Amino acid sequence: MNKSVVIVGAGLAGCLLAVYLSRAGWTVDVRERRGDPRARGHAAGRSINLAISARGLKALRRAGLEEIILRNAIRMPGRMIHSRAGAQEFHQYSRDPNHAIQSVSRSALNLALLEAAAAEKNVGITFHQRCVEVAAASGTVIFIDDNTKQTSNVVADLIVGADGAYSALRGIMQKNEGFDYSQEWLGHGYKEMQIQPVTSGAHAPFAMNPNALHIWPRGASMMIALPNPDGSFTCTLFWPHSGSGSFAEISGAANGRAHFLRDYADALPLMPTFDADFDANPVGSMLTVRCNPWSQGGRVVLLGDAAHAIVPFFGQGANASFEDCESLTDALAAHGDNIAAAISAYELDRKRNADAIAEMALTNFVEMRDKTASRMFKWKKKLDHFMHAMSPKFFIPRYDMVSFSNIPYADALKKSHKQDAMLARATVFILCCLSVGMWAVIAPQYKKDFISVALVIAFIWITFKWIGRRARS
Ligand SMILES: Cc1cc2nc3c(=O)[nH]c(=O)nc-3n(C[C@H](O)[C@H](O)[C@H](O)COP(=O)(O)OP(=O)(O)OC[C@H]3O[C@@H](n4cnc5c(N)ncnc54)[C@H](O)[C@@H]3O)c2cc1C
Repeated sequence: MNKSVVIVGAGLAGCLLAVYLSRAGWTVDVRERRGDPRARGHAAGRSINLAISARGLKALRRAGLEEIILRNAIRMPGRMIHSRAGAQEFHQYSRDPNHAIQSVSRSALNLALLEAAAAEKNVGITFHQRCVEVAAASGTVIFIDDNTKQTSNVVADLIVGADGAYSALRGIMQKNEGFDYSQEWLGHGYKEMQIQPVTSGAHAPFAMNPNALHIWPRGASMMIALPNPDGSFTCTLFWPHSGSGSFAEISGAANGRAHFLRDYADALPLMPTFDADFDANPVGSMLTVRCNPWSQGGRVVLLGDAAHAIVPFFGQGANASFEDCESLTDALAAHGDNIAAAISAYELDRKRNADAIAEMALTNFVEMRDKTASRMFKWKKKLDHFMHAMSPKFFIPRYDMVSFSNIPYADALKKSHKQDAMLARATVFILCCLSVGMWAVIAPQYKKDFISVALVIAFIWITFKWIGRRARS
C-alpha cells in the first residue's frame, strides 16, 4: 500500500525525515511556513553554526549526506579555554584524538537537507504554508498560505509535526485532555557576535586556532566561538536576561565594550564589527520543552524540537532530532500498515532519551560556563580519560558517550551517574588508605591501633556504599 505523510516544517528534522520516508516508499508532502531558502542561497539566513557529532553524522550517512556536509565542516577535537588574562588552554574532548565534533553552518545544513528532500521523486515541498489546525480522526491538517491568505486542507495517513520549539501542531495538541506540557525558560539569553578573518598570523585566515570550540567561562555567564569555513568565528554570548552582568544591564555597544575589556579582552580586538553586532543582533531565548504524549489518535506525531526542545549546551538538539527521524522511520518499517503501533514504538524509544539529553544539556551549561575554568575540572577529565584507557568498555566518560557514540542518551546518563559515584567512592577510599599509611609512617608507636583504624574505615566504607545503593534505588 502506498502511504502518505504530511510533514509540517522543512527544518533540519522535517527535511531528513522526508528523505527517509520517500525512500521507504511513502508519498511525502512537506509544508513550510517560511519562504524557499534556495532562492536566497547559502549566504542567506542566520550565521549560526552547529556542532554535529556521531549521532547526527550517522543519520546523515544513512541519507548519503555525510560526505557533503563534512566537506565544509571544521573539526573540533577539544575546547580552548580562554582565561580573563588572555591565556588559552586546550582540553581534548576524548582520550582518542580522532574523536571530534564538527562545526557546520546551520543554514548550509538546512539547505543541503532541503535539496536532498526536493530531489526525491516522492517528495513535494510547499513554502509559505502555516499550519493552523489539525484533525487527527480524519487525518486532516489545515494550512494558510501566508502570501495569498488562502486555506488548504491536506489529508494523509500520517501527520508529523516537525515545526520546531514553538510548534503550532503541539499547541493544537495541547488543547486535548491528557496532554502534559511544560516549558522551562532559561534565565540566560544568547546574542551572536562575529570574529572576523585575518590576513596574517599563525592560523590565518582564522584569528584563533580553528580546531577547537572556544570558551570564555566566566562563572555565571560565558562566550563561545565556533569556526566557519571562511575564516570567521560565530561567537555566542550566554548572559543572564536580568540582574548583574545581564543583557538588560549591559545594553548598548559602549557598555558592551567596557564589559568585554574586563571579561573577554583577548576577543575584542578580533571583533572589528563589535559595535554593529552588539547593537543589531537580538537577544534570543532558550527553553526546555517537555510534553507527553508525543502523538494523537495514532496518526499525528511530534518530532525534533517540537517534541523536545532543549538548551544548546551539549550541542545535541539537532543530533537528537536526527535520531528521532531514524527511530520513526525504523518503527514505521517494522510495523507495516499499523501506523499507530509504529508511533507507540517510536515514542517508547525516544521519549526517555529526550528527557535524558534535556537533563544533561542543562547540567552541561554549569560545566561550560563555570567548571571548565577550574583545576579540579581538568583533573576530573584527566581521571576520566585515564579510567577510559584502563577499561574502554567498562568506563566511558559522559562526553564520549553523548558525542562520540550512539549509546542511547538515557543509558549514557545512567551509566555516567554510576561511574561518577564509583569514582567518588574510589577517591575517598584511596584518600583514607593514604591517611592511614601516612599515620603509620609518622607515628609508628600507634601501629597496634592501625588495625582498629582500618576496621573503622572499612565500616565507614561499607556504610557509604550502602547509602549510595539506597540513594540510587
Ligand atoms: C543558539 C542555539 C545553538 C544550537 N546549537 C546546536 C548544536 O551545536 N548542535 C545541535 O545538535 N543542535 C543545536 N541547536 C539546536 C538545533 O538548532 C535544533 O535542535 C534543531 O534545529 C531542531 O530541528 P527541527 O527540525 O526540529 O526544528 P527547526 O530546525 O527549528 O525547524 C522547524 C521548521 O518548522 C517551520 N515551522 C514553524 N512553525 C510552522 C508552522 N506553523 N507551519 C509550518 N512550518 C512551521 C520553521 O519555519 C522551521 O523551518 C542549537 C539551538 C540554538 C537555539
